[in-house]
Amino acid sequence: MFDKIKGQEQAINILKRSIKERKIASSYLFHGPEGVGKFTTALYFAMAVNCLAESEEERPCGQCISCYKTSQLNHPDLFYVFPAPNFKVTSRGEIEDNKLLAEYEKFISNKRESPWKEFFFGGNIEIRIDSIRLLMSRINLSAVEGRYKVFIIENADMMNISTANAFLKTLEEPPKDTIIILTSARPESMLQTIHSRCQKVSFYKLSRQIIEEELTEERGVDQIVARMVARIADGNMEKAISMAEEQDNDSREQALKFMQFALNRDDLGFISFIDYYRSSKTQSELKEIIQNLIIWVSDLLFSQESPDDVVNVDKLQFLDSVAQKIPALDIQLNNFILFLETMLKKLEGNVNPHLISIEIYFKLVRLFK
Ligand SMILES: [Zn+2]
Repeated sequence: MFDKIKGQEQAINILKRSIKERKIASSYLFHGPEGVGKFTTALYFAMAVNCLAESEEERPCGQCISCYKTSQLNHPDLFYVFPAPNFKVTSRGEIEDNKLLAEYEKFISNKRESPWKEFFFGGNIEIRIDSIRLLMSRINLSAVEGRYKVFIIENADMMNISTANAFLKTLEEPPKDTIIILTSARPESMLQTIHSRCQKVSFYKLSRQIIEEELTEERGVDQIVARMVARIADGNMEKAISMAEEQDNDSREQALKFMQFALNRDDLGFISFIDYYRSSKTQSELKEIIQNLIIWVSDLLFSQESPDDVVNVDKLQFLDSVAQKIPALDIQLNNFILFLETMLKKLEGNVNPHLISIEIYFKLVRLFK
């Protein structure tokens, strides 16, 4: 099952070898950018060490009851710690307040069903001292069903100093049947003493090609959408998957229309077109249009310099004819892309969406003049 994790061969090989040679470390630090598979790898590793498949080669099989329980975050020997608001967990590890319990369950079900989706809690989040105390009380008990007890601490950098110091004691001498896996995209903000007690495993940004393949081959995403989000996602698979889910072809068409109004200098047409995007309700739609505009403008550039990189391959002829009319193409278009990125940030910062659209429109008009 490890082969489902794409682009992290180095990390996977280290882990597979440690199982094969029976040299499993007691603590690991999985570090690398966000959205590249650190948590999934930790979960698969937990599945592998407790998998019931007879052949070691097949572990994790993903089929046995132990794999199933682990994948559902439901295995009695899997202990999952993550940055959270104060759930007021009791010393028995229970959440008594119904509202807090519901929030906790919502988080867990999101993690099971669509882990690529970012989850936002109501309150401030951190890894809390009571989670670490609970972990410490569990660590000395023996495994219930599996060969190992696995503790996954996600975004371990989100512990404050005193929590980190309390946790350090656990890292000093974990019992033999214990594996602690810390994941972090910001390992530099963790205590050096934590670093030195863990075996470090590096994770890397994913290539555009890997993201594109995962989206089209494993998730049935349309080729053009896959190309587009792979370009925007900057090596982050989680971001790419959630963007592909939200993306509908409509915003591609709308962005094309946006551009065509400017090309034809149809100011009145544009004003009525953009009227729909005035309100804050349509802000996310406008954001998608601008993201798509960035792709269209990049495509103008690629159509002249490297046609293989064009996202909107079905409009190559159109792109080519427009691009040929723009003088000093690369400088102008690169500047324009930077400008659009600034506009996106402004939109997120709640600048009036209507003003932003109009500013983009007139800049496009000048570009196509
Ligand atoms: Zn299994």
